[in-house]
Amino acid sequence: MIQKQRTKLKIISEDAESITLDVTDIPQPLANALRRVIIKEVPTMAVEEVLIIENSSVMTNEVLAHRISLIPFITDLENFNIAEECKCQSRLGCEKCVVRFVLRAEALNEPVTVYSRDIKPERTGISVAPFSGDIPVVALAPGQKVEMELYVRLGRGRKHTKWMAGIATLYEENNRRYFYVESFGFLPPRRMVLEAAKIVKTKIREIEEGLKELMKYESANAG
Ligand SMILES: [Zn+2]
Repeated sequence: MIQKQRTKLKIISEDAESITLDVTDIPQPLANALRRVIIKEVPTMAVEEVLIIENSSVMTNEVLAHRISLIPFITDLENFNIAEECKCQSRLGCEKCVVRFVLRAEALNEPVTVYSRDIKPERTGISVAPFSGDIPVVALAPGQKVEMELYVRLGRGRKHTKWMAGIATLYEENNRRYFYVESFGFLPPRRMVLEAAKIVKTKIREIEEGLKELMKYESANAG
């Protein structure tokens, strides 16, 4: 009798930023697939477009927009879709695939440093927000002002590194193999591993279905 073997995977350590798993007993190609999927495929949220209404700071619009796009946003995978996969199929997006934020700041008599905490959502009741409020965005001298609209969307690391969920590495120590995952703040590290496993499973199923179709086609043409 063939007994179904459960894959043995052990959590060695875990905190809010990272997780280490002992993956000695899972096939190395599978561990490697998980690693690659974490880096390139697990969706996260970042600013995709910036509409600058006013910018009288010394920073150019391009540099300002680039800085903002690198801020990781706490990601909500339950309530939002990747724009390309959203039913709306609209370039502007709908409330299921885009979250709008505004950033307005002005220095009156004193210099002001604008932080990620100054980025405010346009509607209430959403969990999406900059993962940290302490990221400096721009320094304003008295009389300077910035005002902009930000469009946050789900994306994948393979499209742009700003959506890379974190780092994932495989290493060996005393004949054991370990998998270390560190989050950039978009998602908890455990969630990153679970999402990656889900994606790998879907990809394997797609290959299986593709092969079945191919075999069906071949046998139909053989007769
Ligand atoms: Zn949409």
